[in-house]
Amino acid sequence: MHRKAACLKCPTLALVLLVMFPVAVTCAQELDKAAADFHFTDVDTQVLHDSKAIDEQYLKKGLVLQDPQLQPFLDSVGKRIIGNRPIPDQVEFKFTVLRDPMVQAFALPNGSVYVTTGLLSLLEDESQLAAVLSHETAHVFERHGYLENRSFRKKALTLNILQIVASAAPAGGNFSQSVQLFGAAVNLGAAVSSEIIVASVFGYSREMEHQADNDGLIALSNASYDPTAMARTFELLDEDSSLEYEPIQGFYRDHPKLTERRELALQYASTHKANKPEADDKKTYADNASAAICSEIQLDLSSRRERTAVDRASKLSDMFPDNPKYKVLLADSYRALGAKTKLPSPDERTRHGQAEHRKEYFSMTPEEEQKRLLAKPDGQAALHDNEATAEQLYKSALQSNPNYADAHRGLGFLFEQEGRYNEAATEYQSYLSMVAGTSMDHLRIERRLAAVRKLSDASMQSR
Ligand SMILES: [Zn+2]
Repeated sequence: MHRKAACLKCPTLALVLLVMFPVAVTCAQELDKAAADFHFTDVDTQVLHDSKAIDEQYLKKGLVLQDPQLQPFLDSVGKRIIGNRPIPDQVEFKFTVLRDPMVQAFALPNGSVYVTTGLLSLLEDESQLAAVLSHETAHVFERHGYLENRSFRKKALTLNILQIVASAAPAGGNFSQSVQLFGAAVNLGAAVSSEIIVASVFGYSREMEHQADNDGLIALSNASYDPTAMARTFELLDEDSSLEYEPIQGFYRDHPKLTERRELALQYASTHKANKPEADDKKTYADNASAAICSEIQLDLSSRRERTAVDRASKLSDMFPDNPKYKVLLADSYRALGAKTKLPSPDERTRHGQAEHRKEYFSMTPEEEQKRLLAKPDGQAALHDNEATAEQLYKSALQSNPNYADAHRGLGFLFEQEGRYNEAATEYQSYLSMVAGTSMDHLRIERRLAAVRKLSDASMQSR
């Protein structure tokens, strides 16, 4: 059995359910009854205790992204989804963003709902976020964490998860930190029931996932969100749009059941009226989620996922052409591409090509990779194009806002990379005069300035 899926992406009975509908109804009714009759036992109290411990760990490890625009936005969508439903005993709904490239959402039994920056960057509008939250909060309302913990599946599931965590973590890769943290909790066996909290990440039984989809759709409708958003969310989760060799979204890529879940969601939506999305929805969402998207772009850049960075920054920059921040992020991304093309070549897209490039990725440093690319005319052409695009973008950002210091710093790096030391020195100087010692990287840029001045003098003398 493969359970390589985050909660939202877990298997449901789907088409099987349609065939065996009476059986499914029994299951759903049993689940409803179990949730209604729920009373805390010692085992459940342990789960509640473990949930709180996990919350504390995330905070302590610095994985929580706190942003003054994103947080109230997330809270407001969560509040709208919960509506005026009675809150179960020992539940306090809390919505939190985790800095994690893994596309993931999960809820702990105490009402802590987590969405990753990876997921927020993938979604397109508020109703899709609402679809995610409606599914996750349904698990909490229905007491799935506690019920799963009492079930016989616990041990088998834990074993499975241990295997997945061990096999999916690439050496030195960016494997999801939030999942690693769960893995560590399981490995240590620190708490009796912490292994079951893992189920909230990796998914519950098919019946529970189906129920969460179903309840989620009802909650979406009740909150006046378009229920087709749930179907679109499944589509997005199912798309293999990765531009990289590193299998960062591997948890659901080989997952077969999202199509069926999408079908069920569409069936529901076809019989329920909803407010149609507004024209500006995508733009408003991107603005509200921009802290998560920018955090992902920075992470992409520091993890050699330059193509993904270009893709994400292009979308932001296209939506907000007057914002110099996004233009500079896009310029940084093009600069980081170096001799790499913006999109993978047909060869790189083949299975063999991907395997070869993945091997290189893990065996070469970024410098070695660039050197290998520059040995070919294609690589030289790509470098020339990417550098020209970056320069034009930095300059365009400065045109709209001449005091945007980061654009000067970026140009400094770019000119230095191109051997244009004199111009690099001018840009570094402009940057330093604008940030006037207030910037974190003041010292670093002063050192770069001294270095390019030396190089500039040396090239003058050699002429
Ligand atoms: Zn789920």
